[in-house]
Amino acid sequence: MGTFFIQNFGCRATQADGAALETALERSGLETVRERGQADLVILNTCTVTASADEDVRQTVRRVRRENPAARILVTGCYAQRAPEELAAMPGVTWVVGNSHKVRIPEILQEESATTPYHGQIFVGDIFAQQEFLAAPVEDAAGDRTRPNLKIQDGCSNRCSFCIIPSVRGRSRSAQPDEVVERVLRLSLRYREVVLSGINLGRWGREAGIQMRLADLVRRLLEETAIERLRLSSIEPMDLSDDLLGLMASSPRVAGHVHAPLQTGSDSVLRRMRRKYRPRHYEERIRKARALMPDAAIGADVMVGFPGETDEEFEENRSFIDSLPFTYLHVFTYSGRPGTPAAEMLGQVPIPVRKHRNRILRELAAHKNLEFRRRMVGKRLSVVTLEQEGIALSDNYLKVEVAVPREPNRLIELAIGEVTPGGLREKVPFHILL
Ligand code: SF4
Repeated sequence: MGTFFIQNFGCRATQADGAALETALERSGLETVRERGQADLVILNTCTVTASADEDVRQTVRRVRRENPAARILVTGCYAQRAPEELAAMPGVTWVVGNSHKVRIPEILQEESATTPYHGQIFVGDIFAQQEFLAAPVEDAAGDRTRPNLKIQDGCSNRCSFCIIPSVRGRSRSAQPDEVVERVLRLSLRYREVVLSGINLGRWGREAGIQMRLADLVRRLLEETAIERLRLSSIEPMDLSDDLLGLMASSPRVAGHVHAPLQTGSDSVLRRMRRKYRPRHYEERIRKARALMPDAAIGADVMVGFPGETDEEFEENRSFIDSLPFTYLHVFTYSGRPGTPAAEMLGQVPIPVRKHRNRILRELAAHKNLEFRRRMVGKRLSVVTLEQEGIALSDNYLKVEVAVPREPNRLIELAIGEVTPGGLREKVPFHILL
């Protein structure tokens, strides 16, 4: 077994784990290949946040088996932790390794590869036994060649009634501050932008032993590294402290981008979801963010079709969202996860109704996004040029088509000329027009 290919599913934390695993496997002597069909070993680093995430993984196992029957398949990540037997029973799957054993994959492969007539061997343990932040031996985080994603927090100690994540990722735990500084220092030598991510990033530093909050860490990174742009991924609304928002607003090196999961603007549904804030708290944080950062991206995850969601509750949610200055939304349709309290609740919403509500919110999101993009025409935005030719990503999370070819991984300012179907276009510079 000499070559491998890793396919990541799901969130940024999973992508960061995948990048770490890639580095660890390369160090153990395996070679990564770009085509799944050419690999001796295919690793599926999975997500289990919805039923359709599970289905994607199962479909991929079947596809890998068809296109590359000689490859061994190792399934890891959140789905592997949640339902190892289900995956181990699938034809073609050689190993199932839960999040509890993820960092041991190189070791497992070395021990097992000599004796691999096995089918569906399972390595899964108690994820709650894991108290420490397991920093896999990653050289430079990566995941994206121009905007590496650095996971600094894992797990979640909340118990939202719909969410399977705590049972597959374990309790909240954080990377040590010195280690984060050291990694960002190294990344800053190669990249302009680093994205700090986690399962519940706003909880960074809350466990015993770290006397800092996320804002303190960001401040330290700004002082002790030369990174030109830091972007914070999703932060629960109640962790968007005045200190953190103030820091984001006052430092041009922190991207003007707030992503705060809302889930719903209906108070009664929020309570059934066991979310810890009320709509008025959420609204207050978002309005504060907008007041401090008039041009920032403001995004949210929202969910439709939670058990018992009535037409009135959905309307309460829709109008709440409509009233707030969001620039984009990630709209999810509720799907019951076995083992979560919500999956047992009465009043499961019919699928066509869930789909209809999803469409309404997507349309609302598209409208808000378009309005935001129109507002950017005529302004100058700070962008990082991406690997994808001719495209850059702005500080406020908009894709911009550049008018003049530029190398990837540059931080530049662009004048915005017009709106495109999915983003913006740079104003053609005067000297090009001549
Ligand atoms: S905050 Fe709630 S929704 Fe988010 S990971 Fe934790 S339990 Fe899941």
